[in-house]
Amino acid sequence: MLGHSHALSGGVAGLAAGIFMHLPIPQTAALAGFTAGMALLPDLDKCGSSPARSLGFVSEAVAWVFGRISGGHRHATHSFLGIVIFTALAWASCHFRADWGGQAGLALLMTLSVSAALEALHLARGHVADLAGVAVAAAAIWYGYGLRFIPIAVLLGCATHITGDMLTDSGCMLGYPWSRQRFHLLPEPLAFTTGTLPELLIIDPIPFTEKILRTVLVYALIALLFRLSGKRGLANLSTFDFVVIFLLSNVVQNAVIGNDTSLTGGVVGAVTLVVVNAVVNRWWPAVPSRRISSTAGRPR
Ligand SMILES: [Zn+2]
Repeated sequence: MLGHSHALSGGVAGLAAGIFMHLPIPQTAALAGFTAGMALLPDLDKCGSSPARSLGFVSEAVAWVFGRISGGHRHATHSFLGIVIFTALAWASCHFRADWGGQAGLALLMTLSVSAALEALHLARGHVADLAGVAVAAAAIWYGYGLRFIPIAVLLGCATHITGDMLTDSGCMLGYPWSRQRFHLLPEPLAFTTGTLPELLIIDPIPFTEKILRTVLVYALIALLFRLSGKRGLANLSTFDFVVIFLLSNVVQNAVIGNDTSLTGGVVGAVTLVVVNAVVNRWWPAVPSRRISSTAGRPR
């Protein structure tokens, strides 16, 4: 699966674990964030993958070494042994935080996973993501904040990653290096290839959520502009107002569906617009009448 899908599903798994363990909100958020990053770790066995690209040549070199040791892409890092080794390394780094070895391990793990998660989730890019990773790593090492969650995040993240990869048609060799049998979660006709439409639709719904949010925001903005300009209905529109409406629709078109010119993009935007409009039409009349009734007849 793509880095974006792995980080997203890892974040959801961390969030669910935080809620399940009854953690306070800041700690649940920290666990979700860490797990989103750690869910990218197994792909460190492949140069060019999202964790390998996160810190430039440093992470590419780490990925090259991991690829060599683990036997290639989707071998040891995507097996039970891989989960155990990643979790043990994370636990040892946290446990020996006072020693330079622990600090180096923790620094590499945190910087790499945080910057990879930020990039995979499209929250930050390049050096901004790297700096954020360094800052979180430094905070974790010096203040120890959230350290007890890191081994849990690694365990959960790696398990979520491997489960996700088992949905694809290549599957994972869970028993590697003892067995090379590939395990799948879906039967042959349902398993999908990484990066194709089923993954984007089911596992990776962010682009759709983003389109819906954009449409709602633009609708709210235009509605607000019309209210502020005092237009209450079609009856008080002049010719110039119509010109503005036609031009406005062109100006905000990109803001609504971005650079997506596909049929699905258009359908998502259109359906959202109609639904938002139906909801507003249903509830909007209540607002002005309440305002008028609360102010009308009041002595000044
Ligand atoms: Zn993978």
